[in-house]
Amino acid sequence: MIKLNQHPTGRHFLGIPGPSPVPDRILRAISMPTIDHRGPEFAHLGKKVLSGLQQVFQTRHPVAIFPASGTGAWEAALVNTMSPGDAVLMYETGHFATLWQKMALRLGLAPEFLALPGVCEQTGLPRSWRQGVQAELIGERLRADTAHRIQAVCVVHNETSTGVTSDIAAVRRAIDAAGHPALLMVDTISGLASADYRHDEWGVDVAVSGSQKGLMLPPGISFNALSPKALERSKSARLPRSYWAWDEIVAMNPGGYWPYTPNTNLLYGLSESLDMILEQGLPVIFERHQRWAAGVRAAVRAWGLPMQCADERVHSPVLTGVVTPHGTDADAIRKLIHDRFDLSLGTGLGKVKGRMFRIGHLGDCNDLTLMAALAGVEMGLKLAGVPLAGSGVAAAMDHFAAAPLAAGG
Ligand code: PLP
Repeated sequence: MIKLNQHPTGRHFLGIPGPSPVPDRILRAISMPTIDHRGPEFAHLGKKVLSGLQQVFQTRHPVAIFPASGTGAWEAALVNTMSPGDAVLMYETGHFATLWQKMALRLGLAPEFLALPGVCEQTGLPRSWRQGVQAELIGERLRADTAHRIQAVCVVHNETSTGVTSDIAAVRRAIDAAGHPALLMVDTISGLASADYRHDEWGVDVAVSGSQKGLMLPPGISFNALSPKALERSKSARLPRSYWAWDEIVAMNPGGYWPYTPNTNLLYGLSESLDMILEQGLPVIFERHQRWAAGVRAAVRAWGLPMQCADERVHSPVLTGVVTPHGTDADAIRKLIHDRFDLSLGTGLGKVKGRMFRIGHLGDCNDLTLMAALAGVEMGLKLAGVPLAGSGVAAAMDHFAAAPLAAGG
């Protein structure tokens, strides 16, 4: 029988790509007594987290916080900007892009789902799930839309189901080169504070993010970073909204308050997380994630297994998708690793279920926690009878020993 919190000894190895391990410093902050969310102390907390979030999103414009998982912030992005039946151009990078597209359908929008056609010969997996967004396909489609029916382009920055990032600046350039007025909406739920993301510089109109990935918090709060154009569009958008409406939130936030009861204790945690992130600086954090990702890729290459990401230029710094050989059940391997070594790995989602697993390398981890995770994976693959070309653990040790730490750790 499974009992909560009954791990044998030591901490469970949470190797999924979010929720990521929550540092003790943040857990302690969350445990402080809940305060009056209309009182003066709260206003200080509210203003502090809003200003810190602007720095992490790299924006001068408002960021809305919702007491909801990331899915809520997806919905907020669409219902605040769109009207019934609006055409939206979405790009199929993986399972999360697919879920956002399904949500657009349920909300009464007319999403068009662009994808690279076909399957990969080596793995039999959909090609579009192994590559980032192809900005030229977006540009081509927008140029054909001479009547400007398409109201928004929606892309996922770091596709958590595959371990592939997308070049958001290139998507912006494609929209501008087509002279198209569509809004650019970006899901950076698993990208923010781990993979480089620049809201203003990249001309993103609405970004969607969540607490449980690079921000190292438990799940439960999510965000929309806005542009002036998105705020303007929200005044004429006609999809029904109330709880998700930006207007009252944005109006009350400068005073440090929200129109409803905010998630006080998670905001304590967010305040601590922002201190940790901004004390170190975003460039150090981005470099550290790239270094971890390179170490994990060295291991996967040494095992001789394909990676879900087939394009060297867009490997995710946040997670790595590992494809298991035809005829093996990746979920059975995950279960074996969990039961034997107390290590959780991400499952294959949607079209890649059973064909791959995901190793998270984000937030509060370090070289040795990653080495432990890789050791658990290597032992599990061997026990499952997966033929390995060599030792990924040895390759990763060589990588981490040789690759210098970013300045600041
Ligand atoms: N988008 C991406 C890229 C995600 O990784 C996730 C969750 O992992 C979601 C959306 C959905 O967010 P949530 O599960 O917090 O509702």
